[in-house]
Parts: sequence; structure tokens; C-alpha cells
Amino acid sequence: MIDSIGMTVSEPDDPAKILVVDDDPSMLASLKIMLKASGYSPDTAQGGEAALELLEQIDYDLMLLDLQMPGMGGHDVLRQISRRDIQTKVVVVSGETSFSAVKDALTEGAYDFVRKPYDAGELLTTIENGLSRRRLEKQHAAMALALEDSEKLHRYIVNNSPDIVYVLDKQGQFTFVNDRVEDLLGFKREHLIGRHYSELIHENDMVEATYVFNERRTGVRASKDVELRLKINDQVKGVRYFDTHVLPISLHSVGMYNPMGLDGKGEFVGTYGCARDITDRKRNEELINYQAYHDLLTSLPNRALFEDRLNLATAHARRYNELLAVMYLDVDRFKLINDSLGHAMGDRLLQVVAERTSGCLRAEDTLARFGGDEFTLLLPQLSKKEDAGAVARKILESLRAPIHIEGQEVFISASIGIAMFPSSGETMGTLVKSADIAMYHIKSNGKDGYRFFCEEMNDSYTCHLTIERDLHRALERDQFEVFFQPKVNPQTCQIVGMEALIRWWHPERGLVMPNEFIPIAEKTKLVVPIGDWVLQATCRELCRWRDMGLPKLKVSINISAIQIEQDDFVDKIIGTLDDSGLSGEYIELEITEYGLMKNCANAVQKLRRLSKRGITIAIDDFGTGYSSLSYLQNFPVNTLKIDRSFVKDIKPGSRETCIVDAIASMAKGLKLHMVAEGVETVEQLEYLKALGCIEVQGFLFGQPQSAKATLELMTQRPDGKLSSCLVS
Ligand code: C2E
Ligand code: MG
Ligand code: MG
Repeated sequence: MIDSIGMTVSEPDDPAKILVVDDDPSMLASLKIMLKASGYSPDTAQGGEAALELLEQIDYDLMLLDLQMPGMGGHDVLRQISRRDIQTKVVVVSGETSFSAVKDALTEGAYDFVRKPYDAGELLTTIENGLSRRRLEKQHAAMALALEDSEKLHRYIVNNSPDIVYVLDKQGQFTFVNDRVEDLLGFKREHLIGRHYSELIHENDMVEATYVFNERRTGVRASKDVELRLKINDQVKGVRYFDTHVLPISLHSVGMYNPMGLDGKGEFVGTYGCARDITDRKRNEELINYQAYHDLLTSLPNRALFEDRLNLATAHARRYNELLAVMYLDVDRFKLINDSLGHAMGDRLLQVVAERTSGCLRAEDTLARFGGDEFTLLLPQLSKKEDAGAVARKILESLRAPIHIEGQEVFISASIGIAMFPSSGETMGTLVKSADIAMYHIKSNGKDGYRFFCEEMNDSYTCHLTIERDLHRALERDQFEVFFQPKVNPQTCQIVGMEALIRWWHPERGLVMPNEFIPIAEKTKLVVPIGDWVLQATCRELCRWRDMGLPKLKVSINISAIQIEQDDFVDKIIGTLDDSGLSGEYIELEITEYGLMKNCANAVQKLRRLSKRGITIAIDDFGTGYSSLSYLQNFPVNTLKIDRSFVKDIKPGSRETCIVDAIASMAKGLKLHMVAEGVETVEQLEYLKALGCIEVQGFLFGQPQSAKATLELMTQRPDGKLSSCLVS
């Protein structure tokens, strides 16, 4: 029985089948009785023809054959079974006693000869010998078949292995290689037999290959997972690899020894091994490697790769006394372009910048993207400083040409700062920083140009510029946070509102307070996008509180004069409130006196529009400016917020206390609310309470805190009372 992959399955043992052939019916009958009695399964055939017919159909283990029969005699039968390759043991039982007849019968394939009249014991012994011989032969045949099957199985496994499996002789020539080699390398296996393995090895891997292919070790010490490249037969079409000339493999090879070796230890006869195709792994590794060192949008090197190259380049320049330039390129007004045209267009634009800039460089230069719209360039081996200037001019010129994206024509420009090695810095860090500072100088001087770094740029003015540059990034990189400080009703100590106060988490300087950066943001007008961000962040928080079912609170937002000047000032506020589904009552705007005076003419109109939406207006830091009652009456102001410098010195009879008293009566006269900030002591609180202050704010009730802490404060005090704070 043969199963699906060609293995023979053994059958159970049956009683031996014996065919008795004679022309004498009485002989047939007597032999049949004897054989049956001895436990055999006998059939009879009268004559040679009848015997052959049965032999064709049934597999007899043994045949008792008479030689002399009419018609087809015993000799004919013997010749026929040998011709037809019928497997049975033949014992000739014959009255024929001539030597030649017996010899002929034996040469014709008979196993033994018993003379008639036979001796039953002798005949049975002969039969038993014949049968055991037959059994042995059968077993042998079965074993041979099993061996053949096992060989087939192993060949099947080896040939269907996903790996190349090979055997080399001790000269390193292939004596076996499986079918897989054809799929993977495109070579016919027959062509490889007898060829030296080195013909398949990529030139650069030859040394390593010699070491592994000549592997003499076995077991755990043998070569494992050695990576090599094999050559691919180029003539074969349709090879599926990314590099069609080589196949990366991982090789495992073991030395082979003949156990019968002369030295008793075994004689080295060759090597066998397997080579695994690691194309996919290599491709993944390359991709991961690529992603770690490249910017995916532009395919340019990223910061890590740039820094690596710059390190190498500075080491080289130092050694050979060469000049090199580091450039910092920033696309002018990119944020505006990105916001107005959409991020997809912004991305496309950055790709164009990358392409055009690359087009201006030599092969040895490096252009990298640092993130956002910032690119850095490394120009090694310059003969003079001016060469860097020429490259910068070339880049600026190429960027100025109109860019056509999705049917739109866009114009861009860039600012480039250049730092020369070694004059503007000797380390990677200082070079990049100097180029960045130089870039910021050109940015703040009308943009679209380039500038070399010089030491003077490092003075206090630069510090200003550094903050300005960092502020730009702070917005893009989400470094701002809104803190909230409670406003409290002095009579009940209940929280009645919050003031939103911005904080900046600077990556190097840590927490930066608004007084440090708001004035600069105002000067550079960055306060406009920063203010937009504060408004949005505050509204987000208000929505969260509302959605959590917390009591409705009014949040004050500080507004700079520059923001009011913007044409879309009102629309932005109303738009943001509408988008958040918040009514105007949720918001109060705190504007300084200076902010109001600066915009006197159109601020009135704008604030009225806001006021109509329920938004209230407070004058912040009141008392520090030059407020005149007359203009206060023109504005839709609801609240005067006494500056904390006055609150700080509240003592009966002091000058500050007089001012606080004066503001209180002014507020009363103008029918405005009076609130106070910077309340730190219970005395201050009591004094302000007596004056009719409706809201107070200060460290006495709590410092400005993060949104998270504020939320906790509100959920922990459902009555909104902060009176316990007063205990201390
Ligand atoms: P401000 O609007 O007068 O805010 C009150 C300032 O006084 C806050 O300082 C607050 O932390 C502080 N303060 C509150 N209670 C006390 C107290 O009891 N004692 C003391 N010593 N100080 C107290 P902060 O947060 O540093 O803000 C400073 C200024 O920065 C603000 O003064 C405001 O003019 C400006 N600012 C803050 N956030 C923004 C903003 O989002 N936009 C704009 N344009 N300006 C902002
Ligand atoms: Mg304020
Ligand atoms: Mg204030």
C-alpha cells in the first residue's frame, strides 16, 4: 500500500500461500492435504498452463513444481515466471533424477529439488526453508522500499525547504544543492554541481565567505547566521529582489566527517549547510534605518544624520585646516501659508523647497530638514567664505520663482543664516546655533536674504531675538499652557470666576512667565497668534467644565492692544465662542488702560460689538495709566481692576490706600464694578470688602494653577467656597 507521499505501509502476516503444480490429480490431492495440515494455504494447478494462470493472479510465496507434465512442463513454467518476473520460491518435486534436469531447474531459478516419491518430513523442511528465505527476501525488499521512501521524503523536505540546502566536498565544490537554488538565484542546480562555491559569492563578501564555507566545526561551534550576499543569475528574468544582482542570505554551515576516517577521529569530507533568503528582513532593516535618519516628507536627512555628518565634517576641516559653512534656512511666513492654504499644500511646498534647494548644492553638501519649515545645510571644503554667500544667493533666487501647486501660484522666500567654521563656532552645537541667530537677524530685518553670523549678534539684542525666535517655535511646538487663578466674592469666599494666565514651558529655560515674553510678543505682533491660542485653549477648558456640569464661571482673558488693532479681532472672538457653543457671558476681556487709549478710535466700536454679545470688559492694572474719566465713559467698560501695586500697600492713611479709596469712589460714580488683584493678606481683604469690592483675586485664595489642578479644585469644592484658605 502506498500513501500520498509514496511510503509503503506493511501488511499483517497471513498463512503462507503455496501453489502445487502436477499433472497427477492424486498427487495434487495428497500434497494439498499435507500442506493444509501443516498450516499452509495451498492451491493446486493441474499442468503448467493452469499454474501460470494462477501465478498471474495470486502472489504465491512458494510453488511445488513437477517437471514432467504433458503440455507445458516444469522447465517451461520456470522460464515463464522468470520472464514475467513473478516472485515466488520454486521447489521442484519430480521423479526426474538426471543431473542435467536438476541443474537446469536450479539455473532456471528453482530454489530446491525434492525427489519423488518424496519424504514428507524432507519436503516440509525444504518448504519451510524456502518460505523463510522468501520471507527474508520480502523483508529485504520492504526495507529497500522503506529506505527509498525515506530518501524520497528527505529529498522532498530538502527540495521544498525555503532555504538553499547544499553539500560541498572538501575542495569546496558543490556535490548537492536543492531545487530552491533555482528560484532564489536563477541557476540550474545541475549547473552548480562540481562548481566552486566562490563563484556564487559577492566580491565584497569573499573573505568572510571563505571562513564560513570552509567550516570544519560541527555542533554548537559551527558557523551560524552569518550574513553574506550571493550573486544572482542576471540573465533570468523576473527576479523579485530590490537589488537584482545580489541576494542577502544568512548562512549556517557545518563540517562533515566520515566516521570511518583513518585517524579514528573521522576524516573531513566536506561541508553542508543552508542559506536563508533574508531579503525581507534586510529591506525592513533598511527601511527602519532610513526612517531613523531621514525626514519622511522630503526624504532629506533629519537632524540626527545632519549632526552626524557635521561632526565628521568639522573633524575633517580641523585636521586639514579647511573652511566649512553651516546654514540655517527658514521659509518666510510659512505658518501663514500653511494655515491659509492647508497642510497638504504646506507639505507640498516644503517638498518643493527641498527639491529646489538641493538643486543648488554640490554632491558633497548636505541638506537636512530640522522640522517644520527649518532646513539646515552643510557645505564642507570651501575655499573662501564668499562661496557660502554665493550658494545662499543661488538658493534664495531659486526659491523666489513662483511655485505652482494644484492650480495655485504661490510665492515664497526664505531667510538664511550662515555660520563659518571655525570663525563662528567650532562645535556642532555652536555652529548650528550661530547660523540660527544669523537667520533670525535677517528675519527681523525684512526677511528674504542671507546673513553671516558675527559676534555682535550675541549681545542683549540677540537675547531678544532668541526669545522672538523661540516664541515662533513655541506656538508650533505647543509649548504654551493656560493657568487659571480663582476670583472670589469677598463676602462669601465663593469662586465667582477665573483669570486665564499664559505660561510657557521653554525646552531649555523651563517655565517662563508672561511678563518676560508678552512684551516681546507684543513688539513682534506674535501676541496675536498667541492670544488666539489662549482664547481657544480657554474655551476648550470652559466647555469641559460645562460638560462636566460644574457651576457656570466667567473666565477673564488678557488682551493686548495689538490684538484689538487687528481687523478680525471681534470676528475671531465671536467665531471661537460660536465654535465652542459658548455664550458671551462666559468671557470677560481684561484690557490695560494703555491698550484702550492706543486704539481709542476703533476700539470703541469693536468693544461695543463684543459687549452686545454679553462679553464684559475690565480695565486691568487700573491706576497705573493715565485714565481720564471722560474716555472711560465712552467705552462699554464694566469693571475696574485695581492694580496689585496699590493693593500691596494697603495700610490706613498710606498714599496707596488713598488711591484705592479714590478708585472705589470713581467706580461707584461711573457705576462700574470694582475688583482687586494681588490680595495676599486678610487685612487687605477686609479693607477691600469694606470698600465695596465685589471680586478679589490673589495668593490669599490661590496661585494660578494648571487646568488640571483647577478642575480638581472645582470638583473638590462643589460649593465653590475657598474660605478654608483663609485659615492660614
Ligand atoms: P495681570 O493680568 O495683571 O495678571 C495678574 C498677575 O498677578 C498674574 O501674573 C498673577 O499671577 C499675579 N498675581 C495674582 N495674585 C497675586 C498675588 O496675590 N500676589 C502677587 N505677587 N501676584 C499675584 P502673571 O500670571 O505672571 O501674569 C503677568 C501679566 O502677564 C498679567 O498681568 C497680564 O498682563 C499678562 N498676561 C498673562 N497672561 C496673558 C495672556 O494670555 N495674554 C496677554 N496679552 N497678557 C497676559
Ligand atoms: Mg489680567
Ligand atoms: Mg493686572
